[in-house]
Formats: sequence, structure tokens, C-alpha cells
Amino acid sequence: MKYNDLIVGSGLFGAVYAREALDSGRTVAVLEKRDHIGGNVYTKKVSDIDVHVYGAHIFHTSDREVWEYVNRFAEFNNYINSPVAIYGDELYNLPFNMNTFSRMWGIRTPAEAKAKIAEQIKDLDIKSPKNLEEQALSLVGRDVYEKLIKGYTQKQWGRPCTELPAFIIKRLPLRFIYDNNYFSDRYQGIPVDGYTAMVEKLLKGADVYTGQDFFDFRKKNALSDGTQIEYDRLIFTGPIDKYFDYCYGPLEYRSVRFETEELPVDNFQGNAVVNYTSADVPYTRIIEHKHFNFGKQPVTIISREYSSEWKPGAEPYYPVNDQKNNALYQKYAGRAKEEEKKGVYFGGRLGGYKYYNMDQVIAEALSLSGQIL
Ligand code: FAD
Ligand code: UDP
Repeated sequence: MKYNDLIVGSGLFGAVYAREALDSGRTVAVLEKRDHIGGNVYTKKVSDIDVHVYGAHIFHTSDREVWEYVNRFAEFNNYINSPVAIYGDELYNLPFNMNTFSRMWGIRTPAEAKAKIAEQIKDLDIKSPKNLEEQALSLVGRDVYEKLIKGYTQKQWGRPCTELPAFIIKRLPLRFIYDNNYFSDRYQGIPVDGYTAMVEKLLKGADVYTGQDFFDFRKKNALSDGTQIEYDRLIFTGPIDKYFDYCYGPLEYRSVRFETEELPVDNFQGNAVVNYTSADVPYTRIIEHKHFNFGKQPVTIISREYSSEWKPGAEPYYPVNDQKNNALYQKYAGRAKEEEKKGVYFGGRLGGYKYYNMDQVIAEALSLSGQIL
């Protein structure tokens, strides 16, 4: 078989690039090591509920072009993410906003909340935050940090907040208004028919080979059944360090384990996302999938999310974008630039080793296809 483009990975980066390549008249093959398409946005119908198999995925963007693009391939509902956080027997609204502060301190006005935060950090004298702990303390004060950030972050990243980059916490909005919308983006929602259907449409016209690991394929340019594949260009969305046989050493990732169960109740926790912010609870959050689509099914499906350090064989979910790993990634990025001369391009969360949201991955895939197609 001969194709113009061989794409490794059927996640959003691979699927968007595939769509653009197909629409420009190229022939496209996709290799996917899992037995299904979609990468981490894959959803699966179980008991009529769209289960987010690799963790909750809420689409949000302020990029109008990206929003219009995804709406060509899926109808989005009007879901707004408003998680709550449980710490011991206390419950707080997220992101950090007047509802959180009011519950935490029994206050009502923004001025009272700001005064409380200022009082809690007055002795610290943080001018430019050097790490996540300093960033969090300077933004929300000690109580919110201790109850809602410290334990959760330590579980999520397996490192103390003092060893993590400040930008991670800046992903969350901080508001002095009563507004529980977790995102500040202009557009937000969940595909009514699930993400998998959206990715199917993106890939329509490509030859998709699932259950095929690129690193097995690479030995002979052949699929597991022996079919030979030739191609002019390779788009690689797997881990960049593995592509180069870890020649500079392995990059670090965080992995996640999901424990999913169906329960014979119609509503388990009253919200799609409930975070458990205390270090004593082993999981970081519980997702109740039906609430992403306002489901009315008589049963429910929940997933507990456990975060762990990545080891060979596990799924690498989150790049750890601290200084050490970013510096290592730069070495691989240098090699990747050289590979471009051979028609090999890297992209996506693992190919670019970046903590990207879906909209950023789509924008990046559109940008690459704009440059090279
Ligand atoms: P992936 O989806 O990881 O796709 C890469 C594909 O390549 C995978 O299918 C993989 O199996 C395949 N692959 C890898 N190696 C090989 C190989 N050797 N051979 C063949 N195939 C291979 N973003 C949001 O915007 N909103 C959210 O709410 C959100 N929640 C998230 C929750 C979790 C738990 C995680 C982990 C991520 C979340 N994200 C969210 C980020 C989002 O998942 C990513 O931005 C997006 O899915 C990345 O797409 P991708 O194509 O780069 O990578
Ligand atoms: N975070 C936290 N408490 C929470 C939720 C998030 O401390 O209840 C911190 C944590 O460090 C996390 C970061 O905020 O890594 C970003 O959260 P987000 O929900 O964006 O993480 P995601 O799982 O989407 O990557």
C-alpha cells in the first residue's frame, strides 16, 4: 500500500491533520496502537451513557476558528463545567471564586475576600512566585491553598508544590465574582453524540489501522499481518523521546488509572466532577459521566481517577513541564527539526511534550497542515 501521509496516532492532532490532508487531495493512512480511534478523547456508550474512558473531557476555547471547525464535525451541548471540591466533610465550589471564599470564611463581599487573602500572606513577601506553592499562596491565601490545592496537586503530580512550575495553577481562573464556571473561555460544551463520533467524521476517507504499534511497524514498514506500507510523509503524535529511542534519556510523564463502575442509582453525586482535595483520599476526583450530557438514564457510571508516575508500559497522559524536562525536551526538539528534512513531523501532547488542551492541539494541527499541505 502507498500513501502520501502516514499518521501515527488517531487522537485529535492526528485526526485533524488527516482531515486537512484528505481535503487537500492526499491519501492518508493512520496507525493506532489502541484498538479504537480517538486517543484520550475516546468516548464509549455503556448503558446508553457516553463514558469518557480516559478521563473527563470538556471542550472549551476562545478561538473562534477552532470552535467553528469542531462544530463542522459535531453538535455541542451547552454543558458548563462547575466542579465542586470535597475536603474532609467540607464542600466548596470551584474554581476559586466568591462562592468558595464565602463558604471558607463566612464573608460576602470581594473587598472582604481580598482583605482575608492579603492578611494570610502578609508575612510571606512573595514578589515573583518561584513555584506553584508561592503562586497559589499569593493568589488565594493560606486556607484555600491548604484545603483545596496542596493535597490535590501533590496527588496529581506526585511532587510537592514547591517543586512544581507556577503556571500549572494559573490554568484555573481566580474570580472575585459569584461564578462557578471552571473555564473563562468564550465557547464550551460536549459533543452530543460523544467525541468518538466526531473523530470518526474527521477520519472519514482515511485508512485507519488500529491495534498497530508504530515501533513494531517501523522495523519492517509493515503492519502486523505483513502488509507493507510506503509513505512520503510521517506525522508522529506518540511520545517524542520513544521515537528517538530515548537517546537523551526518558522524559517524565504522569499516568492516570481509572476505576470505573456502574451503579444502580440514577444520580450518585449530583455533579459531573467532584474533586477530592485532601491528601488522605487516594483518588483525585470522581467523574459521573451522565451529567456531561444531562443524562436521564435509570443507572449511572462513575470513574475514580488515581494519578501515578509513568513507567514503561503505562499510558503517558501528562507531560511534566518542569525546567528539567523542558530542557530535555529541547534536545529532542532539535532532533525533530532535523527529521523534518526527511518528511517527519511531530505534534500533539506527546509529540510536542506540552500540557495542551484539546483546542490547542487542534489549532496546532491546523497550523502544521497550513504550513506543509
Ligand atoms: P492523544 O489523544 O494522546 O493521541 C495520541 C494517539 O497516539 C493515541 O491514540 C495513542 O494510542 C497513539 N499512539 C501513541 N503511541 C503510538 C504508537 N507507538 N503507535 C501507534 N499509535 C500510538 N483537554 C481539554 O481541552 N479539556 C479537558 O477537559 C481535558 N481533560 C483531560 C483529562 C485527562 C485525564 C487528560 C489526560 C487530558 C485531558 N485533556 C483535556 C487534554 C486532551 O486529552 C488532549 O489535549 C488531546 O486529547 C491530545 O490529543 P493528541 O492527539 O495530542 O494526543
Ligand atoms: N488544582 C487544585 N485543586 C483542584 C483542582 C485543580 O489544586 O481542586 C490544581 C492542580 O495542581 C491541577 C491544576 O490546578 O494540576 C490544574 O487543574 P486542571 O483542572 O486544569 O487540571 P487538568 O486535570 O485539566 O489537567
